[in-house]
Amino acid sequence: MAQIAECPECGNSRALLECCPHCGSPTPPILSADTIELNIKSDNPSVEEALDRLTEKIRTYQELGIKNIILIHGYGSSGEGGRIKWAIHNALENNRYADRVEEYHFGERVAFGSIAYNALMKQRPGLKHYLRHFKGGNAGMTVLLLGSVRRSA
Ligand SMILES: [Zn+2]
Repeated sequence: MAQIAECPECGNSRALLECCPHCGSPTPPILSADTIELNIKSDNPSVEEALDRLTEKIRTYQELGIKNIILIHGYGSSGEGGRIKWAIHNALENNRYADRVEEYHFGERVAFGSIAYNALMKQRPGLKHYLRHFKGGNAGMTVLLLGSVRRSA
């Protein structure tokens, strides 16, 4: 994971979700970027585990101020990677994450230089660093655009 977060207590760079390894501060870090890459399949979860994990991560990242998630779910017509991809596509299309995810873009539809890509870059420039590598689009990932945290008055 790229270092995008800085400890507000001691100023060292640190991971997003744990205490600061330098000073032990549990205070959430200051972000220097609004985009994060999330690999949901790295430890071969079941489909249900992957969906539950995504719910949890979306909530955590949104509360930290992350705006864009590059979700890596793998692809393929068979195997767990393929099942996770289709389950996530289904969940998104059935509005499972609609309270927090404003928009989603399947990787194969945002090929570098396409109209969809250019529109997305205009909307969320923080994605450029991540998406410019995917020349022909990338069927193994989906871009999630998070809404603002709604705080009750
Ligand atoms: Zn610290």
